[in-house]
Amino acid sequence: MYSRTNQFGLNEEQKAILDAADQFGKKELYPLAEKMDNEEWWPEGIFKKMGDAGFIGLTVDTKHGGAGMSYLQAGLVCQAFGRWNHAIALSWVAHENLCLDNIYRNGSQYIREKYIPGLCSGELIGALGLTEPGAGSDVLGSMRTSAVKDGDHYILNGSKTYITNGSIADIILVYTKTDFKKANKGITAFVVETNNPGFKIISKLKKMGFRGSQTNELFFEDFRVPAINMIGKEGEGHITVMNGLDFERAMIAPISLGISERALEISIEYAKIREQFGKPISSFQMIQSKLADMYTWVQSVRALVYTVLSECDTIDKKDGGRGQIHMNTAASVMHAASTCNKVLDETVQIHGGMGYMWESEANRLYRASKLLEIGAGTTEVRKMVISKGLLH
Ligand SMILES: Cc1cc2nc3c(=O)[nH]c(=O)nc-3n(C[C@H](O)[C@H](O)[C@H](O)COP(=O)(O)OP(=O)(O)OC[C@H]3O[C@@H](n4cnc5c(N)ncnc54)[C@H](O)[C@@H]3O)c2cc1C
Repeated sequence: MYSRTNQFGLNEEQKAILDAADQFGKKELYPLAEKMDNEEWWPEGIFKKMGDAGFIGLTVDTKHGGAGMSYLQAGLVCQAFGRWNHAIALSWVAHENLCLDNIYRNGSQYIREKYIPGLCSGELIGALGLTEPGAGSDVLGSMRTSAVKDGDHYILNGSKTYITNGSIADIILVYTKTDFKKANKGITAFVVETNNPGFKIISKLKKMGFRGSQTNELFFEDFRVPAINMIGKEGEGHITVMNGLDFERAMIAPISLGISERALEISIEYAKIREQFGKPISSFQMIQSKLADMYTWVQSVRALVYTVLSECDTIDKKDGGRGQIHMNTAASVMHAASTCNKVLDETVQIHGGMGYMWESEANRLYRASKLLEIGAGTTEVRKMVISKGLLH
């Protein structure tokens, strides 16, 4: 019998966190998934609801309003949300890890006190603004958004695209160039408030999957941000980016795991009830072979994802962005994403024509899975990180 609660290697506390997030996901998030996908609809107030239930600010200490959890524990919540509503899981991870965890780790005491409690309660929604229309894989070298010092402020000009939560965010961690002479360096990060003049949402982007998660192109026009809102030092944003990317990759991988688990679950259910040639299709050895492969793939992802999340908990947080952890977080997110795509390919195949229908859950998961090979650095970029480490 297949059981999602078969979580090898987890202690009682970790199992309890996974179970609590799973129950919340099934009850509160799953019923929203179909409408979000059909209408590209975002359920207003869901961050507050997740915050009230204790699922936000997980890796932040309790003094700042967080839960003081490890990355592995937070990853278990992400896995459970990925099972039941991957669009909310993506928006959650953009808020929780790409924005909140990064600001918490790298922000000044002033920034921590001003923004972290609201972000932890879900009253403030966060986003990360790194990618630009001309700056994707070469995000640092090709960055064009500028920040020019003007007294005790900086003036921002430029656009950011593919920004998850862009249109619903109150706070964005934005990367800018303060020195164009320094190729991949000369990058400076700021926390910006989106209700200030000069911030514009140019468009809501229409996607093939994760459709309820809001993705936008944003524009900053003579946008004034106080110098005190800088994260780290001027010109050292590249360190924050690379460091943050490792934790981001480790924390996004559980979304692939959660989606894969759900896909296996619905494939088993469908194989048992769909009859052809007078028998359930689960009685055919070729279908059994697919299910056995899918189970094995999912278990291999689980092992790597948990191991790398645990590794994130043991390293000095300043050591992200280089060395073994840089390779391992790239390996984790790459393996989880490519496996998720294989699992979903078989999921649709097992569902036959039903899997090709837009409204089926198998189809919704299939359309989502491709993003996991693109966002947070593409498969090719992940391979570049790993091979560079191997050949160094
Ligand atoms: C739904 C969604 C949500 C996102 N959310 C966010 C967000 O919240 N914040 C944010 O900042 N960004 C976000 N992104 C952006 C994401 O990180 C980028 O899309 C990704 O880094 C790839 O950049 P690109 O799309 O410009 O592709 P490109 O860089 O244009 O790549 C195109 C192709 O060329 C390949 N390629 C590029 N360079 C090389 C090379 N040197 N060698 C071999 N192949 C190469 C790539 O792998 C890819 O296959 C999001 C993207 C999507 C689609």
